[in-house]
Amino acid sequence: MTHAFARPADRLAAIKPSPIRAIFDRAAKLEADGHKIYHFEIGRPDFDSPAVAKQATIDALESGKVHYAPNAGTADLRAAISEYLADKRHTQYQPNGEIIVTVGANEAVFLAIMAFCGPGDEVVVPIPAWAHYQSCIRLAGATPVEVPLDAANGYQLDLEALSAAISDRTRMVVLCTPNNPTGTVASKSDVDAIAEMLRPTDALLLSDEIYADLTYEVDHASPASYEQLHPRTLSVGGFAKAFAMDGWRLGWLAGPAELIAPALRVRQYTTVCSTTFIQDGGAAALRSARDEAESMRQSFEARRNAALQAISGTDKLRVASPDGAFYLYLSYEPETAEPAEELAVRLLEEHHVAVVPGTAFDPHGGTHAFRVSYACPLEDLTEGLRRIIAAL
Ligand code: PMP
Repeated sequence: MTHAFARPADRLAAIKPSPIRAIFDRAAKLEADGHKIYHFEIGRPDFDSPAVAKQATIDALESGKVHYAPNAGTADLRAAISEYLADKRHTQYQPNGEIIVTVGANEAVFLAIMAFCGPGDEVVVPIPAWAHYQSCIRLAGATPVEVPLDAANGYQLDLEALSAAISDRTRMVVLCTPNNPTGTVASKSDVDAIAEMLRPTDALLLSDEIYADLTYEVDHASPASYEQLHPRTLSVGGFAKAFAMDGWRLGWLAGPAELIAPALRVRQYTTVCSTTFIQDGGAAALRSARDEAESMRQSFEARRNAALQAISGTDKLRVASPDGAFYLYLSYEPETAEPAEELAVRLLEEHHVAVVPGTAFDPHGGTHAFRVSYACPLEDLTEGLRRIIAAL
């Protein structure tokens, strides 16, 4: 029985539970019954976090760094992020006033949207996309405007459709590159075109670059490295993917001071600051675990190649452009199998392979697609894909 007093605020009505949840719960139950599950649903690395990051955190704890940090993060971690972004993304951010250390990239996205978007505002989101954006946009009272991308075009950014979606109500455009779930990496000419599109508007660009260190054979172009885009771009990054530090809940939001100040105001009434002692671990990772991150990237690349090889023998699956991140977004013709949410249940129940149905990323276009994470051991990847192909 639900009590009347348990009714959630109206704004929650617009936020649907993720279809990923159902898969997680079923997988956990099968595992509890002793079955081996091929976990392709999880969006996190299977590597341990870098030893230097752990040691720096232990040292910080032992030296008594157990009290509140500044709202924007410790000066040392902000300096390390500033150096890292200059080296790796060719973007210039001052440690003071232009960077907030966040509780994961999740919080960075939340702060950016809460600080700038409200009722009457539209936020343009190309889909398939990580559904977190739309939920934050709705929580803020703003309206997501989804721009569906085309499977036939490898889910590359559709510049015409993007341009058509931008109006004088557009407060923000979201770009996630490399993309979750498609792996697509925006090209330099895409970023140029976005700069041109936004020039006559008041829209901000929310650039989610959490996967920026994980690209294969192509280069990542950071929007904020473009002079025209820098003033209106909020850049999101973090430690979860490239440094295998997802459980640390550490990330960042970087932007010009006039954009960072409002985000910091939201921050003061939510998490206040990231955990103080782990910030030393974050700084150590950015400065001293770059080789380790590169060797993880190489492992992901080898797995990606093995996964592409494994599916190259079937004509039942079509893969998007997997140039970055650690996902394959696979689509199939409706005649091949049942809709994605049912297929995901069958793959799990009968073949013990957990995937995320495409509807989690694109409610209409994703009905015959699913996401496979290749952040898992190579043997599991090839066996799980073999099972999927057999099931199709
Ligand atoms: N952005 C994207 C596109 C993601 O896929 C994720 C994690 N799934 C995040 C941000 C959040 O990362 P974090 O764990 O640092 O909060």
